[in-house]
Amino acid sequence: MLIHTIDEVREHVKKWKKEGLSVGLVPTMGALHDGHKSLIVNSVEKCDKTVVSVFVNPIQFCPGEDLDKYPRTLEEDNNLCENAGVDIVFAPSPKEMYGEGHILSNDFLTYVIPPYFYVDKLCGKSRVGHFDGVCTVVNKLFNIVQPDFAFFGQKDAQQLIIIKKMVNDLNIPVEIVACPIVREKSGLALSSRNKYLSCTEKEEAVVLSKILFNIKACYNTGIVDIEALKDTAYSLLNENHDLEYLEFRDENDLSEKEKADENTRVFIALKIGNVRLIDNISLKH
Ligand code: AMP
Repeated sequence: MLIHTIDEVREHVKKWKKEGLSVGLVPTMGALHDGHKSLIVNSVEKCDKTVVSVFVNPIQFCPGEDLDKYPRTLEEDNNLCENAGVDIVFAPSPKEMYGEGHILSNDFLTYVIPPYFYVDKLCGKSRVGHFDGVCTVVNKLFNIVQPDFAFFGQKDAQQLIIIKKMVNDLNIPVEIVACPIVREKSGLALSSRNKYLSCTEKEEAVVLSKILFNIKACYNTGIVDIEALKDTAYSLLNENHDLEYLEFRDENDLSEKEKADENTRVFIALKIGNVRLIDNISLKH
């Protein structure tokens, strides 16, 4: 069922809660692919009712980013959700979420701001304010849907860690379920932004996962020196790859690792043409 208003979602959730049914939430920005679908399948399996939100959240886009051209495919998204057994697709307008005129101004909106330590690195470094926008909208969605479980992909591992931190710090009564990264056969992590890639760029984009798999393979042979592991990546890069970061960070709190170990996650961001792509891998055996 496709719903555009907060009140209507609340009505359904109220009824479900009265009946003692558990509710799962899958927050998305739409243009759904098999990565999103895996989150949805997890929720449908685990929860009595599943809500998928489809909302291209304007306050998590920085100036100059792709807010206007971000793919919007609500009809297909709704079909995918219906076929997967989703109960509600919640697709609000920016006005429904933020009210008229307040969309881009933090003078008029109460924000949820994650700790600086978590956002001054990786994607937060180049996307200033991005995680404020993410935490604010996810908090709003939690308040609207009041889910028992919320499903997030490890594809956006920094986001997942920050959301877990927010839920813990603010005592939000929801269990966060982390879902593994879904990849194409080539290794490329599925992403709505892959739609921006030309055929040749898509082939180039395989380098992200190649670098990560290579690092993990070297770590598995016993190499723990981070510079040595990074060196294995540089030989795979060429002039078409604009590396933004390749970092080894703690799985739980994003602190920098001195040596690779079982709690290390390797994060990469790289631009191919105008398309910025991210990926990551856990070094856990
Ligand atoms: P987005 O629509 O890009 O905001 O993503 C919505 C959710 O889907 C987030 O929790 C993402 O981490 C997750 N997601 C996106 N791509 C993948 C993927 N390839 N594998 C697993 N989860 C994903």
